[in-house]
Amino acid sequence: MMPAPDYGDGTRSVHAGLPPAARPGQPFLPGPVFAAPYHLDPVAGPQPGVDGYGRTDNVTWRALEAAIGELEGGECVLFSSGMAAMSAVLLTQLRPGDTVVLPSDGYFLARAFAQDSLPGVEVLLAPTAGPYPSLEGVRLVLLETPANPGLDVCDIASLADRAHEAGALVAVDNTTATPLGQRPLELGADLVVGSASKALTGHSDLIMGYACAASSDLLARLRTWRARTGGVPGPFEAWLAHRSLGTLDLRLARQSQNAAAVAELLAGRPEVSSVRWPGRAGDPGYEVARRQMRRIPGVVTFTLPSKAHVDAFLTASRLIAAATSFGGLHSSADRRAQWGDDAPEGLVRLSCGVEDTDDLVADITAALDAAATP
Ligand SMILES: *Cc1c(COP(=O)(O)O)cnc(C)c1O
Repeated sequence: MMPAPDYGDGTRSVHAGLPPAARPGQPFLPGPVFAAPYHLDPVAGPQPGVDGYGRTDNVTWRALEAAIGELEGGECVLFSSGMAAMSAVLLTQLRPGDTVVLPSDGYFLARAFAQDSLPGVEVLLAPTAGPYPSLEGVRLVLLETPANPGLDVCDIASLADRAHEAGALVAVDNTTATPLGQRPLELGADLVVGSASKALTGHSDLIMGYACAASSDLLARLRTWRARTGGVPGPFEAWLAHRSLGTLDLRLARQSQNAAAVAELLAGRPEVSSVRWPGRAGDPGYEVARRQMRRIPGVVTFTLPSKAHVDAFLTASRLIAAATSFGGLHSSADRRAQWGDDAPEGLVRLSCGVEDTDDLVADITAALDAAATP
């Protein structure tokens, strides 16, 4: 049943994209459909609306696209990874001579891709919290809020107004927030781009991406792009992602609760500086996040005095795995400088999982104590 718009997030997560009618004797849930070619009518040949070939047609993708589209409030197209979705948005919108504005503190590969692989396109960088340059003559503004890894936030609605006045399109990377955390299309964005590899699916076992658009014209260009470049997800991953989506509301609730407790703990530790979590009163992003976001993600960023201090902390923790990525069931942490981010040596992005809050707080306290007394 297509969820009515007034259902809560739990109901929407569970029911998103499921078949409209229950049919006796059919499996309770659809399984993945694997097909390279499909059977054609031997006389009529390919028919509109009839699946023909697996690079363009797959019912398992369509179910997940319907689900993500329902949550984001727009039409969705899946890609093989978040970066496949990101590059599709940039390459379908930008031509030589165009100007694009990207976050200077956002996902580093988006910046690297734009700077190295869009010949003739002028790339302007702006920090997520601003100030933003004049948008006159800009073709596309990409926002990422909260920005990964620094967790600054920006006001999507007011930047979308500015961009539209200047004739620019706005795309928002919604990976960190997820569509339950914020709905950029409702806030005025033209496009949403996201990695499904992070909190959206949350089990740390697949790589996928998506884009959503408010206009079917923008979406049709992305769909054509995907068919021609071939950056399609596998049906099995799409099925796994859809299965995982059902618990999005539950996972985010626990992750957010854990992050609130962990941010509070970290803020009280003398060796920890620059704690960032936009859900914490006093955080520079708090006011905008409170207005714009429906819930705050489970990622907390903070800084320890040195690389050695981070190493000791991660070694001592029993619950926090050293791993990149974020948004999974299992708590994990990542020292961003080791990936080449322009960040202090001791900056840690900590992704709170769905463990019990008390266990996580006790583990982090013990690991910080151990790291402080070598
Ligand atoms: C991980 C990530 C991406 C890229 O997604 P992949 O699925 O790894 O390709 C893009 N944007 C943000 C904010 C991310 O965290």
